[in-house]
Amino acid sequence: MHRLPTKSALWRYRLASCLLFFLIIGLFPAVGVLVYGVITRDIPCITISGYIFGGLILLLLFNFILTSKLRCPLCLVSPLQNRGCSKHRDVQRIFGSHRLKVAKSILVEGHFSCPYCGEMTAMEIRSTNR
Ligand SMILES: [Zn+2]
Repeated sequence: MHRLPTKSALWRYRLASCLLFFLIIGLFPAVGVLVYGVITRDIPCITISGYIFGGLILLLLFNFILTSKLRCPLCLVSPLQNRGCSKHRDVQRIFGSHRLKVAKSILVEGHFSCPYCGEMTAMEIRSTNR
């Protein structure tokens, strides 16, 4: 099982996983308020949904920047981004997304399996004692 090189990488993995879940959860109220505003023709509701979508887009950009620096210790591909690389044959998905599976594993189980190489990485810092 591989380990992460620095403590900052550990926190960035956890923050990126939380942001990914927050982005998905945040879509539901945004769409709900937008549908309600369109059905009732309530302009403030549509405006509020626009603010929520704008905030989600900013979070999406921040999450993209954050996850672009995170690399699998073995294959050096970012496991929290959807790259064009071929996936490992045993990759598991949640709702059709391998990124959600990685984020859930990081937050709940304390380790993740890279969707590209299939190797396990613990959410621990690599020991420097040699
Ligand atoms: Zn990998």
